[in-house]
Amino acid sequence: MISDRASKIKPSPTLSIDAKAKEMKAQGIDVISFAVGEPDFDTPEHIKASAIKALNDGFTKYTPVGGIPELKDAIIEKFRKDNNLHYTRDEIIVSCGAKHSLYNAAQALYSAGDEVIIPAPYWVSYPDQVLLNDATPVFVQTTEADNFRVLPDALAGSITGKTKAIIMNYPSNPTGFTYDIRSLEAIAEIVIRHNLYVISDEIYEKLLYDGVRHVSIASIDNEIKKRTITINGLSKAYAMTGWRLGYAAGSADVIKAMENIQSQSTSNPTSFAQKAAVDALNGPQGFIDEMLRQFDSRRHFLVAQLNAIEGVSCIMPEGAFYAFANIQKVLGRHFRDVAINNCTDLSMYLLQEAHVALVPGGAFGADGFIRMSYATSMQNIREGLSRIKDALGKLS
Ligand SMILES: *Cc1c(COP(=O)(O)O)cnc(C)c1O
Repeated sequence: MISDRASKIKPSPTLSIDAKAKEMKAQGIDVISFAVGEPDFDTPEHIKASAIKALNDGFTKYTPVGGIPELKDAIIEKFRKDNNLHYTRDEIIVSCGAKHSLYNAAQALYSAGDEVIIPAPYWVSYPDQVLLNDATPVFVQTTEADNFRVLPDALAGSITGKTKAIIMNYPSNPTGFTYDIRSLEAIAEIVIRHNLYVISDEIYEKLLYDGVRHVSIASIDNEIKKRTITINGLSKAYAMTGWRLGYAAGSADVIKAMENIQSQSTSNPTSFAQKAAVDALNGPQGFIDEMLRQFDSRRHFLVAQLNAIEGVSCIMPEGAFYAFANIQKVLGRHFRDVAINNCTDLSMYLLQEAHVALVPGGAFGADGFIRMSYATSMQNIREGLSRIKDALGKLS
C-alpha cells in the first residue's frame, strides 16, 4: 500500500496534458499545443558553452549542498541589482529548480494542522506541495474583474489561528497578472500583523510587458523581508527548464532548514549547471529582451483573436507567457449529443476534435477558463486559433 501522503496528491495536470499531446503527436496526429509551460527558445549559446567548459574542466563532482559560493554571489548580486534586496550567502539556497526550492520551503515551514493560503487561480503544484507536508491549503478566490489579484480584505478574512503562510506568485502562472507596490504593501501589512510567512514565487519577474516593473514583496521593508522566502530560478528567463536550477532567499534559519532537507534528499544541484547559471546571471542579458519582444507580439495577436471568437473573452495579461481566457459562455453547449459542461470537457473536446491542447482552468482552481501558453510559434498560434474557432462553431 502506498502512503496516505502519496494518495492525497495527483500528477501535475499541466505536465500530463502536455504528455497526452506529445503522445498524439508521436502517433502522427498533428496536434498544436498551447499547454506548454516553457519558453520555445533554446538556451543561449554562451550559457551552454559555460556548461561544456565546466564539464571539460572536470567540474563533475559533488558541490556544497546549497550551491557553489560563486553562484550564491551571482544570485546575491542579482537580488541587489534587480530587486534592491540585500542578502548574505547563508540566506541563499540553490536547488534543482524553483519547484524544488518551493518544496524545500514547504518542508521547512509546514507542520500537520497548519493552514496555507493560496490565492486562486494558482500554479498547479502549490496545493499538492502543501498536502505533501500534512498541511491544509486554503484557497482565496480572486476574480477576473479584479485582474485575478487577491484583495487584502479577502486575504485577511481567510486567516485563522492555524494560518502559517501565504503563497504569492507574480507575475502569475496562469493569469499573467502581477501586483504593484501598493497592493504588496497592503498584503505585507497583513502578513506582519498575523505573524505569517510569505512564499513569493517570482520566477516570471523578467517577463513583463508595456514597461510594467516588478517589485519584490520582500523589498518593502525589513519586517516583511524576514518573513519572506523569495523563490526564483533560471528556467523561464533563460530558457533553461531542463537544466533544473532554481533558488530561494530568506532568513538564515529557514534557509538552513531548507538546506538540511536538501542535504538528505537530492544533495547539490548539478555541478556544471551551477557554473552555467553563474554565466547566465552575470553575462549579457540581451537574450531576454529579444524573447520578450517575440512573446509580446504573440500576446497581442492571441488575445485579440481570442476576443474575436464568439463565446470567448480574454483580458490582456501583463506578464509571463499565458493568456487566461474566459469560456463561461460556451459551457452548456453541445457537440452532437455530448454536453460541454466544464472547462475540462471543453479541453478534451478541443484536443479530440480540433487537435489543440490547452489546460482547463480547473487545474488552477478556476473553472470557466482555459490557459493558453503563447510560448509557441506565431504560425502555430494562428493555426491553433483557427481550429478552435471552427470547433467552437460546431457547438450548439
Ligand atoms: C515553471 C514554474 C516554476 C518551476 O520552475 P523550475 O525552476 O523549472 O522548477 C515555479 N513556479 C511557477 C509559477 C512556474 O510557472
